Amino acid sequence: MTVASRRRFDGVLIVGAGLAGLSAALAAAPRRALVLSAAALGEGCSSAWAQGGMAAALSEGDAPALHAADTLAAGAGLCEPAAVDVLTREGPDAVRRLAGLGAPFDRRPDGGFVQSLEAAHGRPRVARVGGDGAGRAIMAAVIAAVGAAPSIEVAEGARVRRLLTDRAGRVRGALVEDAAGSLTEIVAAATVLATGGLGGLYAVTTTPRALLGGGLALAALVGAEIADAEFVQFHPTAMDLGQDPAPLATEALRGEGATLVGADGAPFMTRYHAAAELAPRDVVARAIAAELRAGRGAFLDARAAVGEAFPHEFPAVFAAAMAAGLDPRTAPIPVAPAVHYHMGGIATDLDGRTTVAGLFAAGECASTGAHGANRLASNSLLEAAVFGARAGRAAARLPDLETDPLAAAPAPDLPDSALQALRRAMSRDAGVVRDAAGLRRLLAEIDAMEAAYGPAPPLVTARMVAEAALARRESRGAHYRADYPASTNPIRSRETLRPAAAVEAA
Ligand SMILES: Cc1cc2nc3c(=O)[nH]c(=O)nc-3n(C[C@H](O)[C@H](O)[C@H](O)COP(=O)(O)OP(=O)(O)OC[C@H]3O[C@@H](n4cnc5c(N)ncnc54)[C@H](O)[C@@H]3O)c2cc1C
Repeated sequence: MTVASRRRFDGVLIVGAGLAGLSAALAAAPRRALVLSAAALGEGCSSAWAQGGMAAALSEGDAPALHAADTLAAGAGLCEPAAVDVLTREGPDAVRRLAGLGAPFDRRPDGGFVQSLEAAHGRPRVARVGGDGAGRAIMAAVIAAVGAAPSIEVAEGARVRRLLTDRAGRVRGALVEDAAGSLTEIVAAATVLATGGLGGLYAVTTTPRALLGGGLALAALVGAEIADAEFVQFHPTAMDLGQDPAPLATEALRGEGATLVGADGAPFMTRYHAAAELAPRDVVARAIAAELRAGRGAFLDARAAVGEAFPHEFPAVFAAAMAAGLDPRTAPIPVAPAVHYHMGGIATDLDGRTTVAGLFAAGECASTGAHGANRLASNSLLEAAVFGARAGRAAARLPDLETDPLAAAPAPDLPDSALQALRRAMSRDAGVVRDAAGLRRLLAEIDAMEAAYGPAPPLVTARMVAEAALARRESRGAHYRADYPASTNPIRSRETLRPAAAVEAA
């Protein structure tokens, strides 16, 4: 690795080029923004993969207060009401702003937004694009706007390896590795982390594999507070066909009458819930996990319910299954719960400020408290747009400082073999069903890996999730403890990295 050079950037440094990062860059104008993207623009981010759309109260008869009530109910007593209020009140304008940039939301003949109904929403409220193409279309419009903005510079293939701090502990930019392996210290007035989720830390995920909770770890390593890290949302039915990441078998298939069966072909959901296949998402995820753990297998049998209609009714599922060599018209689809979203993250206020001066966070890597213990469907693109813009505006107001950052080395990398072992351990012990014995075993494995490789970001984030899950001795929202099944503690969790690890990293 080449020795670091230094660049002073008088503006806002933004780490991550999903909807949150690009929204922050656009909102920071006329202040300059430098956006770092580990992958090419539009690649390697969940934002471009979103299917359903963006929730916002845009139709007659709906109101932000109704959207807020549904969000609070999904959050299972852990939402921050002020964050929910901002999210839902600013939601309609955020969708209109994206439409103004050219995002081709589906429209009614009268010009209004088509709104679809999704799980746990009291009314149709999700603005969509071309059925299931929301993410890619929204990102295309935002990327075009960023390209046209004179205040924004983008660096692709630029991966942040460490945050820089000054003597007072303020964040002063980042140590960045380019595609050729050269390191540059980029010294900036304000730094916004918009690095997305942590799906890649689990063996089965629906998110891009490269998303390893890296921003959360970088923030934790400079002492930022992390909130609600234990709350990881699992999609109950990802297709378990050896693809990594795993494609989704949409919940609409069960709505159409597809059944969940074991390897012997017998349906199993009635053993878990009276509503069987239509039971709440968490119940279905836990049932599938239990069947898999018992070695009985879990398959989604859509042969009778969908059959020959697959290619035109569910083209995305059909294509993904066929690509893996399985014809869902004639064979049941093997399924497994997959990590889909992280409710927890870097604790922020309503303007994206973290607990460390000079550092902001927005989007999935942040925890504003808007999602509580479980995210309401399609509230995450909305959060990225609303809070990304707020963070960008607030960061743009920070004046530049003359202080120099302290010298810093890149955070250690984790070899691929260790990462794969970590992914298996996370799925086994910090997955849909958790207990103290499993979480302690996981933490012991993380300790051993950290002793071998140092505080690599995937290990730091895995530790924060496991420690928070061990500390929460109750079940709530997406966090289920087999040894503490009752809901008893409606208080958000807050943690900072254990001093030993922080000292080691310094
Ligand atoms: C399959 C799928 C379907 C979904 N469907 C929906 C939906 O319909 N509606 C909805 O609201 N939500 C949906 N979600 C969730 C939603 O897409 C995400 O929560 C949201 O897009 C997150 O946006 P973000 O900007 O925070 O992060 P991302 O879009 O994930 O972007 C993260 C960025 O950070 C960069 N990055 C990470 N680490 C570094 C580093 N160290 N250095 C430099 N760059 C870095 C990445 O390269 C990337 O550019 C879905 C998610 C998935 C996976």
